[in-house]
Amino acid sequence: MADIDELRNRMDEVTLEMIELLKTRTEIAEKIGELKKSIGKGITDEKREDNLRAKVIKLCKELEFDESIATKFLNFLLNESIKVQSGNKQTHLSIFLKAKSLEQQGKKIIHMEVGEPDFMPPQIVKKALEEVFNKGFVKYGQSKGMPSFREALANYVTKKFNAKVTQDNIIVSPGARFSIFTAISTLLNPGDEMIVIEPAWPAYKDCALNAGIKVRTINTTLEEKWEPSVEQIRNVINQNTKLIVLNYPNNPTGKILPEKLQDNIVEIARENNLFVLSDEIYSEYAKKEWKSILSYNYDKSIITQSFSKSHAMTGFRIGYAIADKKIIEKMSKLEALCLTNVSEPIQYVAMKALEADISNNTNTVQNRLNVLEQKAKDLGLDFVSPDGAMYLFARINQEGFDGVKFANDTLEKGLAVAPGEGFGDYKNFIRISACQEEKTLIDGMNILGNIMSENR
Ligand code: PMP
Repeated sequence: MADIDELRNRMDEVTLEMIELLKTRTEIAEKIGELKKSIGKGITDEKREDNLRAKVIKLCKELEFDESIATKFLNFLLNESIKVQSGNKQTHLSIFLKAKSLEQQGKKIIHMEVGEPDFMPPQIVKKALEEVFNKGFVKYGQSKGMPSFREALANYVTKKFNAKVTQDNIIVSPGARFSIFTAISTLLNPGDEMIVIEPAWPAYKDCALNAGIKVRTINTTLEEKWEPSVEQIRNVINQNTKLIVLNYPNNPTGKILPEKLQDNIVEIARENNLFVLSDEIYSEYAKKEWKSILSYNYDKSIITQSFSKSHAMTGFRIGYAIADKKIIEKMSKLEALCLTNVSEPIQYVAMKALEADISNNTNTVQNRLNVLEQKAKDLGLDFVSPDGAMYLFARINQEGFDGVKFANDTLEKGLAVAPGEGFGDYKNFIRISACQEEKTLIDGMNILGNIMSENR
């Protein structure tokens, strides 16, 4: 008995020592965070992290200690450092909120920061809203979604993407965002790692951080046409790596990967038994040949889709995920816990929206992107011509350019754009959305041009 007490006391002591060390580590992280801020450096430094990871692995070998536990613990520590350094990063959302409050004070703002089509949902949606009450879609339902809606979605997906999908492969969610959250939170465990290719929509990283998962960032560049290399991906994979996120057509770059490269990435995922979370909500706005991850028949893939962009139904909060039945079951448990089920009336309305012809939306967005691209060329912005989606991700080649400061300055002049920093380490970039009428886009780009020449 005495032995166990002694050991337990020793264990308590070690734990308390670890807490003291954790405090010291956190304080150092805070100081580093302040320095990074003052010199304008991004939070995550993959090289530094890699160095430390290598040191930890070397130590484990010397100590003959389990590498996997040690690196998971390291991932926890790295994430804690990211949390204390994260502060209040400005993204398209913070600019949007600031623009809204300026509007309340009577200022006119052109919104080229948000990713929200300005056009209305299909007409059939209005009719569905009127009839849903009498149809009786007003009760609790299955957490995965109404069987009739899932059946309709399965048929829609099967036809559209030429894939074999049944309703067991579908979960309805309040927007693609929630499917991304449930997929990441249920398929991975704290300490696991997932790969995000940047520039990227920020929620993937935020979901990971929330769930204690370590993100391995792959930085792509304009010079490399926003394409990750196979080596970059292979280099970050280790025994803790569990998932890779893909998002093509991409927000913010509009990129669609060359087919061969996409094939290679899926092959690497297969070889390493990784989940592939493919966020395909911009598929309707592809301007060139695009291949859904569904077409690979990979049983560890999760595809997220939404009515937000394709059907201009952002405010309805409705989307869905397509995956293997076992994955859907896991996601559905968390969805049931969080929200019982997605609102039945909204599911009914979305089911009706599937009948609408949305090709006009596709044409509208593609034409607007063309207009935006032409204006950006005239202004001499640096960008890769978008293959799809609703955005232009442009570099402003001016000495000391800071996207956050610029986005705040342009607001004063009546134009809202999104700072590149919200999508990764892209301080000298801005994202411009093609979500307004062509004339408004031209007005917005003219304001942008004026500010650029003032700053010159
Ligand atoms: N994925 C990407 C890439 C997005 O840009 C967005 C919204 N801007 C979402 C998902 C979220 O979509 P939803 O409205 O369906 O939640």
